[in-house]
Amino acid sequence: MNTHTPIQILKEFWGFNSFKASQKGVIEDVLAGRDVLALLPTGGGKSLCYQVPSMCSKGICVVVSPLVALIEDQVNRLKKQGIKAVGLTAGIPNNRLIELLDNCQFGGVKFLYLSPERLQQSMVRERISQMNVNLIAIDEAHCISSWGHDFRPSYMACDLLRTLTNAPLIALTATATLAVQKDILKALKMQDPKIHKASFKRDNIVYHVKKVADKNYYLTQICKKANGSVIVYVNSRRRTHELAALLENSKISAAYFHGGCSKEYKKKTLALWLKDQVKVMVATNAFGMGIDKSTVAAVVHFQIPDSIENYYQESGRAGRDGNQAHSFLLLGPLDIEQAENQFIQNLPSLKEIQKTYTKLSSYLQIAYGEGTEKSHYFSFNHFVHRYELNSIKTFNALKTLDQYRLIQMQDHFEKSTEIRFICKKEVLYNYMETHEDLGLFIGVLLRTYGGLFEYQTKINPYLLAKKINCSYKKLESILQRLKRDNIIDLDTQSSDLSMVYLVPREDNRSLAPFAKMIEKNTQEKIHKMKAMIAFVQNNKDCRNQQLLHYFNEKSTSCGSCDVCKSSGDLSKEALEETETAILYLLESSAMDSRKIVAQLSYEKERVLNSIQKLLMSGKIIINDQNEYVKP
Ligand code: ADP
Ligand code: MG
Repeated sequence: MNTHTPIQILKEFWGFNSFKASQKGVIEDVLAGRDVLALLPTGGGKSLCYQVPSMCSKGICVVVSPLVALIEDQVNRLKKQGIKAVGLTAGIPNNRLIELLDNCQFGGVKFLYLSPERLQQSMVRERISQMNVNLIAIDEAHCISSWGHDFRPSYMACDLLRTLTNAPLIALTATATLAVQKDILKALKMQDPKIHKASFKRDNIVYHVKKVADKNYYLTQICKKANGSVIVYVNSRRRTHELAALLENSKISAAYFHGGCSKEYKKKTLALWLKDQVKVMVATNAFGMGIDKSTVAAVVHFQIPDSIENYYQESGRAGRDGNQAHSFLLLGPLDIEQAENQFIQNLPSLKEIQKTYTKLSSYLQIAYGEGTEKSHYFSFNHFVHRYELNSIKTFNALKTLDQYRLIQMQDHFEKSTEIRFICKKEVLYNYMETHEDLGLFIGVLLRTYGGLFEYQTKINPYLLAKKINCSYKKLESILQRLKRDNIIDLDTQSSDLSMVYLVPREDNRSLAPFAKMIEKNTQEKIHKMKAMIAFVQNNKDCRNQQLLHYFNEKSTSCGSCDVCKSSGDLSKEALEETETAILYLLESSAMDSRKIVAQLSYEKERVLNSIQKLLMSGKIIINDQNEYVKP
């Protein structure tokens, strides 16, 4: 049989007409059997870089991905396109697991997605070694690096795949710092790899860091003026509600979005926003994955983000259509100081992480040595209230436990209703007789659930409403009435998190092996926050240049960001003149900055500024003696 060419595959399964420039080279090298490291910005189309090559040949592609949500998203997309794909995350019972692996081995499955901890399971490894693997893909490969902004130690197991198959490997990430690249190449034992790095430059995004006294007012102005959709990122769920209300009050259509919203609400709100019926989405960073709207005119950061990586990625959701778009970071007078202090204060220490783990285990009633392979649903707020914990810090602690794969945490919104009869049986029968309208319902209750007199029992209000042929609302009011009449005890709760224990509860012992890494990673987080603050405070260098410099890329200044605009006032010619003079000086010999300043008649500040600009654009470099030279 003829195998298909990449472009045929692209058209047939994805319905796209051409590859993006950066995809082409990557796909060619993968098909040539090379190990490839692909560094492409978010939205750059990384998935196709492994999906298309694998579709071009026989066999299965094994993909490692860090998050359940990412795995589910990819698997569902492929299935919709008629491509067989399987996702192995935690919480799949063993018999189902065997069935899925059988399908991969014999059932023509083209993509097997796994969370990295699945590789620690010998059965999974054994089975993969028996499969006809044509490609290994490590998605979000920066997770393997402790320098990455999302380090996940379990990712280090990815190199096990090397021992199971000779298939080539492609690592993909949007993190392009050198330290991370090096870690990836080493940890994945990449042989003679081809490195593809697309430019992270987004010419059409104008960055503004705005110092303002009244952020609310400024936000309203931005949203009013924006010629398209807006995303506003804030750092708390509560804030999403507040700001959405604020905007609505100013007659700007706005909605909120965060991890604790129900699935239905998220779906509905997202649809309204996509259809331009809601202009502004005020969200936490839970809003992002799979959001692929091209006409976002502005992204606003209402607080300082935790890292340049996040800031860049979130800003990058603007202007996908290629039209000019804006990224605003609003800075109140106290923001920098607060961001730094609060960020550091909210990073849990190892002790606090351990404490959270123990509390969580008691809260979920998980006994020592137990707890795996079962999902627990609960309300985060309830948990925090019960033990009087600081909620941001506690959430960070849970995230760390997830990062180190002791637990797997996911958003999961569900309302649960529990009841119990608290009156004597005789009283109940009497009540049924005197309240005929409720008698039918109580009868159905008693027939549907056993033990209602003995235990608090979870009931399904939708099912009950159906049984007695009434609306959900009506049913709720019946329950309220029974409660008021002291017939039942009613406990309605909503859960917003689901939790799977990936290893049995062993309290401090579970965490001990990671103690050093956790501490190092905490320092790393502080470091990233400080880099972000330095970016905010640097009013001398073009925003675009600063960002690209962070990602190891050289560029010229953009001419449109807040820095360029304000230094433009100083006269562009003047700056160019200085740069030309410096370059002229360096024609004859290398010099350090002191010497350059001494040789020129301009003021020191201006010269240093220009040196910095020349460095960033790659027009000059630093030699071994710490002097500047032309490359
Ligand atoms: P990344 O993983 O790099 O962030 P994705 O693989 O999720 O990016 O792709 C981002 C979006 O771009 C997806 O909606 C995808 O369908 C789209 N896309 C990818 N490649 C192409 C292409 N060649 N033509 C058109 N759209 C593409
Ligand atoms: Mg991706």
